[in-house]
Amino acid sequence: MKGSRHGSTKENGENAALGQASGHTMAVDLLIRELEESLGQDRVRADRIEIGLFSGDASTFDLGQAGLVCMPRTSSEVQTIIEACNRHQRPFVARGGGTGLAGGAIPCGERPVVIALSGMDQILEVDVSARLAWVEPGVINLDLTRHLTPLGYHFAPDPSSQQASTLGGNLANNSGGPHCLSYGVTNAHILAMELVLPDGSVAMIGQDGGDAVGYDLRGIVVGSEGMLGVATKIAVKLTPNPPAISTLLASFPTVRQAASAVTSVIANGYVPAAIELMDRNAVKLIEDFVHAGYPRDAEAVVLLELDGLEAGVTATTKEVSHLMTGAGAISVRCAADDAERMLLWKGRKAAFGAISQAQPDYYLHDTVVPRTRLVEVLDEVYRIAEKYELMVINVFHAGDGNLHPILAYDAREKGRLELVHQAGREIVEASLAAGGVLSGEHGIGVEKQAYMSLMFSSIDLAQQDLVRTVFDPERLSNPGKVLPTGATCAELQYMNHVPDGVWA
Ligand SMILES: Cc1cc2nc3c(=O)[nH]c(=O)nc-3n(C[C@H](O)[C@H](O)[C@H](O)COP(=O)(O)OP(=O)(O)OC[C@H]3O[C@@H](n4cnc5c(N)ncnc54)[C@H](O)[C@@H]3O)c2cc1C
Repeated sequence: MKGSRHGSTKENGENAALGQASGHTMAVDLLIRELEESLGQDRVRADRIEIGLFSGDASTFDLGQAGLVCMPRTSSEVQTIIEACNRHQRPFVARGGGTGLAGGAIPCGERPVVIALSGMDQILEVDVSARLAWVEPGVINLDLTRHLTPLGYHFAPDPSSQQASTLGGNLANNSGGPHCLSYGVTNAHILAMELVLPDGSVAMIGQDGGDAVGYDLRGIVVGSEGMLGVATKIAVKLTPNPPAISTLLASFPTVRQAASAVTSVIANGYVPAAIELMDRNAVKLIEDFVHAGYPRDAEAVVLLELDGLEAGVTATTKEVSHLMTGAGAISVRCAADDAERMLLWKGRKAAFGAISQAQPDYYLHDTVVPRTRLVEVLDEVYRIAEKYELMVINVFHAGDGNLHPILAYDAREKGRLELVHQAGREIVEASLAAGGVLSGEHGIGVEKQAYMSLMFSSIDLAQQDLVRTVFDPERLSNPGKVLPTGATCAELQYMNHVPDGVWA
């Protein structure tokens, strides 16, 4: 076997011995051979480098190890992979851009087959008259909007990762973004999908022309984090580009006043397209990084966007500015043109990148609290960060009450990550105590799995597990995620631990 492309499985002496002794490893080789015959050798990878690259995502969790990486180009190739996994009883994990922050795409447990979908990146059909497009799951979010813009449309969910995250990942995580405040999160923009079910059969879920009758299976699959099958074609809604946009930047002397301003705008009946809040730490880092024109002396800024028909936007801009001033804003500035508007948004979207100037690593949390409790939960976040002597940066979708406290740290400092996780747990508990929920948009993955029982009773969890069982009785699709099993992803990895590069 020496010299084989599968360095990890065959060149390693220990593994070669396993291969002679174990029928199991021979079965693995058989799976690889079958898949190579269907997909070609270059799209079935078990080299050490690929295994490493596809074993993590953008989260802080380093728990998984892929067994094999497959790169399908068509729905029927995805089906072939899943059928082979079924024959060999191998779990599999769908992967889009790998930008997930909750560890959803991490291959956990028995070294699953990673189905890397980024090569399925075609926009298949755009039907402007029906206001829908059919796309493959590997299409990048921003690429879709760029494609639609000249036609007068866009894809409304705009996660800050939109330059790298895929429609398949957005669907599976029911992702949000700044403009989801008035337009709704991904669930409101997915009409239908082709889904390869965990047993390899193919189902069309939802309907691209009007509401489907019967149970809303589409609604169950959106947000199911790859545990109910793999989406191979997706029908999305097209949102018309608004004729008028007004973007305001208000600066505040305290975070509390900025948060109260957000509450006041919504309480007065306005639903802006977006309301983002950034605290002093965020403003400083963003300004140093991209010079977005945010006031450095502010303790917090609110970036608020209104869109719609010209006359309505003009009137609402005045009313909302007035409300912000009433809530204590030191200044309220309206972007004079598109260039200034884009610069203000560039600052917000570059916030996570800007953190690298302060610390090499960060942990971004994602809980939702009722807007009326924003002020008290933010106070608690600052208190927790101070207790653990951690730098906290708050940049979040304030209009939705979707908190994103970012704990910046240096993972090379011994014990630091543990402190970050401990502080994170307290932030989650404070959010739940205020009537909030575990996640606004990043999903549960492995990150919040252990917290599920803080929010759901054992009966709730058992019901959710029953739904999962209907789709995936063998538990092959993205195992070890979301629902607490008694054996978390970390435990599964421990139980199945094998030497690096060996597919056991
Ligand atoms: C800098 C940064 C900013 C971010 N900002 C936001 C934000 O504003 N809003 C937000 O919601 N999220 C945000 N995220 C998180 C992340 O980008 C989103 O969750 C995104 O939707 C993940 O897409 P992905 O293609 O990278 O999916 P992956 O990380 O590859 O996978 C995510 C999950 O989707 C599943 N999956 C992927 N493709 C499929 C498919 N075709 N069928 C079935 N399951 C599939 C995977 O198994 C996994 O469970 C951010 C992340 C980063 C790094």
